[in-house]
Amino acid sequence: MSNDKGCLYVVATPIGNLGDISPRAVEVLGRVDLVAAEDTRHSGRLLRHLGLERPLLALHEHNERERLGQLLERLAGGQAIALISDAGTPLISDPGFPLVRACHAAGIRVCPVPGPSALIAALSVSGQPTDRFVFEGFLPRKAAARRERLDGLAAEPGTLVFYESSHRVLDTLADMCAVFGEGRELALCRELTKLHETVRVGLLGGVLAWVRGDESQRKGEFVLVVAGAPEQASPADAQLDSALRILLEEGLPLKQVAAIAARLAGVGRNQAYQRALDLQRQ
Ligand code: SAM
Repeated sequence: MSNDKGCLYVVATPIGNLGDISPRAVEVLGRVDLVAAEDTRHSGRLLRHLGLERPLLALHEHNERERLGQLLERLAGGQAIALISDAGTPLISDPGFPLVRACHAAGIRVCPVPGPSALIAALSVSGQPTDRFVFEGFLPRKAAARRERLDGLAAEPGTLVFYESSHRVLDTLADMCAVFGEGRELALCRELTKLHETVRVGLLGGVLAWVRGDESQRKGEFVLVVAGAPEQASPADAQLDSALRILLEEGLPLKQVAAIAARLAGVGRNQAYQRALDLQRQ
């Protein structure tokens, strides 16, 4: 294991379907000196399923800081440690952040072993743009704080991704309707890769009514992928459009239209000319 010396492997595990574990994850889990796991009983079952037997150490949000010293000592001593969580990619709404920071500070190598994450799985099937997205993890449990967080996101143009539990999915959908409007698109992704996998795409109001009317759709684990806010035209763009429309109606030559509108809206002549061409084509 010479190339393993003193390395923390951050290993992704399945979010439901055990067939999603990667061959490399199995190989790394099978050869590290220690597996640091959020819930050792849960992860013990996964290791047994994979035919592996490795020492396990519990590392969860309540003991993570206490365990740091011990783990860093082992890593500094040349041991290889795998960090796993109950499901998906560690640190994504899961423990591990203080350990990874501490490894970097101590000059210890941190290696990703990528694989499943509910966030990326949901985004990939949501039908929403994936070039810009905001991952919000879990919203606050208390209603007032949840509304406040949603208020702050109402104008965000990127796709919004939230984790949610069965206990709060209805309240969260209702709050989203109130803040984002019932007409905003959403993909409700439930129990991904599992038996009752559901991907329901629609408008917030319709999806809320559907979940309200069917108790079975409130069970399990959820990712809510919400469309970003529609892009607002800037005041200068709006002014340019209105000036161009009036001047085009007058039947003036395009160059002259662009020159006058550019001065009125305070934008460049080229921009005004291109926009005038677009409007003329429309
Ligand atoms: N680290 C995990 C990951 O990479 O996805 C997330 C852990 S977080 C504690 C658990 C939350 O992830 C669940 O409450 C749910 O919102 C989401 N989640 C996990 N597995 C899921 C699945 N199979 N289908 C839908 N959502 C899931």
